[in-house]
Amino acid sequence: MKLDNNIAKILKEDFPIFKHNLGLVYLDNAATSQKPKQVIDSILNFYEKDNANVGRGVYSLSARATKRYEDARKVVANFIKAEQKEIIFTKNTTESLNLLSYVLSSILPQGKNEILLTEMEHHSNLVPWQQLAKRNNMKLQFIKITKDFTLDMNDLAKKLTDKTAIFAFTYASNVLGTINDVKLLNKLAKSKGAITIIDAAQAIQHLSINVKEIGCDFLAFSSHKMLGPNGIGILFGKKELLEKLPPFNTGGGMIESVSVDSSTWQNTPEKFEAGTQNIAGAVGLAAAIDYIKKVGIENIKEWENQLLKYTLKRLNEVSNIKIYSSGLDKSVSLISFNLPGIHPHDVASLLDQKKIAIRAGHMCVMPLMSALGVKGGVCRVSLAFYNTFEDIDVLVDSLKEIQERFAK
Ligand code: PMP
Repeated sequence: MKLDNNIAKILKEDFPIFKHNLGLVYLDNAATSQKPKQVIDSILNFYEKDNANVGRGVYSLSARATKRYEDARKVVANFIKAEQKEIIFTKNTTESLNLLSYVLSSILPQGKNEILLTEMEHHSNLVPWQQLAKRNNMKLQFIKITKDFTLDMNDLAKKLTDKTAIFAFTYASNVLGTINDVKLLNKLAKSKGAITIIDAAQAIQHLSINVKEIGCDFLAFSSHKMLGPNGIGILFGKKELLEKLPPFNTGGGMIESVSVDSSTWQNTPEKFEAGTQNIAGAVGLAAAIDYIKKVGIENIKEWENQLLKYTLKRLNEVSNIKIYSSGLDKSVSLISFNLPGIHPHDVASLLDQKKIAIRAGHMCVMPLMSALGVKGGVCRVSLAFYNTFEDIDVLVDSLKEIQERFAK
């Protein structure tokens, strides 16, 4: 089903938040998406009908709960074209990347001591690597961005070298929207023998992702940004690498045998899932993926591109607006901007008075803010497929009013 403004309005009705907050114009989808009734119901349904702990009970209710948890893993694996054993349930993208940063030391390639990142990384794909670099006495390198807010490939050519042990990069920037050519980046990194890690937190809800085609070693994302519940995320890892890695958390559920002075581990993915997991969260995430598949990720992308085009056109009507966007076709559906002379927090607070929700601040990318020469942060509008042209019109009209108010 191709999406248009009318269908977006119909789909919006699936999201109860809009019934409970009449007039809400939600433009902060990159921070977290809203949840359709189908996802909320699936969680309720699990707790009402199938709730038990997984992987340990011999009784039928526990077997059913285990099946629902493992079926959810299957749904996630199919969604990104991975194998079930390659899908680890975590709390969120941040936890996926932290987990990796602790266990990777054991398989770092010999004779390499650099970690390569980009200037557009979210703190979640930066601070864990800073910490690893400190622990292992490694050096961090950052690929610069160009004036048109894309990765500087000349700088990459200089910094991706035989010394690069890890190359961790975002699929899509949470501030610039820029979609990186992850297949190319992975290929370049592999030619230097580096381990590749992709932060897909801002891509998974907008783009069709195929980890086999990309060829990356690891990829992380969060359920809450893709219509799913909070508190559940994914770490994909190539099976042969996950098998080599040690566990991070240890305890119940991940061991094969335990004596008083030593233990052995289960295989992946159980090895990385110590303790009782967010079972209902996994069920909810699977329902979110089912919902996305029903609407169609390609349809979502196409409609969000139309919304992005419209938003860029209309925002450009606001005089002196400074837009930080790599533009149509190179960007997911989010746009950061500033109104000169007006603090982004003031813009967001004034918009809130009209029930318009946007994000303002440093967006967890302080090094990018420095690279852009931005001091007080930016405003960010981030769209989902249930947004409409009317949402954008209300936003732009309100921005014009704010500007007039400050001009007085
Ligand atoms: N990476 C990117 C690009 C993000 O936008 C975010 C969330 N803003 C994260 C990582 C972290 O995601 P989470 O808070 O769900 O761990």
